Amino acid sequence: MEPFDYEALPGRVIFGVGRRFEVGDEADRLHVSRILLIADAHDQTMIDQVSDALGKRCVGVFTDVAQHVPIEFAQKVRDLATSLGATATVTLGGGSATGFGKAVSLSHNLPQICIPTTYAGSELTPIWGLSDGGHKETGRDLRVLPKTVIYDPELTIGLPISIAGPSAMNALAHAVEGLYGPSANPFMSAMALESVRVLATHLPLMHESPTSMEERSQVLYGAYLAGAVLAVVGMSLHHKTCHVLGGLYGLDHGRMNAVVLPHALAYNKPAIPEVYERLSAVLGGDAAGKLYDLARELETPASLSDIGMPEEGVRRAAALIVKEASSNVQPINEEQAVAFLTNCAKGERP
Ligand code: NAD
Repeated sequence: MEPFDYEALPGRVIFGVGRRFEVGDEADRLHVSRILLIADAHDQTMIDQVSDALGKRCVGVFTDVAQHVPIEFAQKVRDLATSLGATATVTLGGGSATGFGKAVSLSHNLPQICIPTTYAGSELTPIWGLSDGGHKETGRDLRVLPKTVIYDPELTIGLPISIAGPSAMNALAHAVEGLYGPSANPFMSAMALESVRVLATHLPLMHESPTSMEERSQVLYGAYLAGAVLAVVGMSLHHKTCHVLGGLYGLDHGRMNAVVLPHALAYNKPAIPEVYERLSAVLGGDAAGKLYDLARELETPASLSDIGMPEEGVRRAAALIVKEASSNVQPINEEQAVAFLTNCAKGERP
């Protein structure tokens, strides 16, 4: 066995149907009483429920959430936190809402309680992101690691397949790249493979029975495992590509993940024969092909062209990907990056 390092991250997780109503108790545990609730605006009932559960502790609500945390929006939420004298944030929503809470934690050093409603996984990571013009800056800082995460499957019951599918592919990407990323280790690999198994088994069942709380719970659990892996293992070609394309063209994060993952895995295959075999065993066939098939089953777009990537963008993005993915497990030069991106742009089965 290869030697490895593993640094466990702190954090409390509570998981279960209806547990969002315990958010006030969780705030008390952290001894915080002036809370800014940051929520994406997809469901006012959910916002009201969480705000009511916080009671007087909730001193303000911010809903002006946008994807990739544009710096000018981040400034608005930071100013609001200052003017309210907030001592903590509660975030409710997908990775974008979580990202806004992290922006506040980074500037104000405030604790965050996170109630995710998608499968993005950001709630478990110390990674922040801010975008400014065509560039997305990211960094790692323990101040942005949420102190408590409340997973409540009930909040995902209305998640339509158009959001659930891409978001779940994003979770799968965390698990898959966690098997060969820079700090991969056997403990994380066990979690990553379990995440892939749970997601690949239960996503089609959830798609068939979208109101089944058991299936929604299983998928959220699989995404939780994937997020825990993302938090520890550095990511590779797939995530670097999504990062570059998100910054350059503002493409939707989940849909981009759904398109890129099978191609990134196929590209990396020669460098990771053992991992590829284990993944294929869990997925019941050639891993890259099976992920592509699962993405089709979940009705996600097949190609970058389908999600708004300009054709002439391939070369520009390729040059950046070569820089960003310099530590990828399978080395990549500009010509190879162009070929890889062209495959993603075409969207054929790898
Ligand atoms: P998102 O947060 O932008 O949400 C996508 C859409 O889903 C939004 O319109 C939102 O209103 C809606 N939505 C959310 N929950 C819903 C629900 N339960 N029912 C119906 N609609 C719902 O997208 P996302 O994919 O969750 O997150 C993407 C963002 O997260 C990106 O900016 C990405 O970079 C970031 N991210 C960061 C990390 C990290 O570790 N820092 C990890 C993963 C993703």
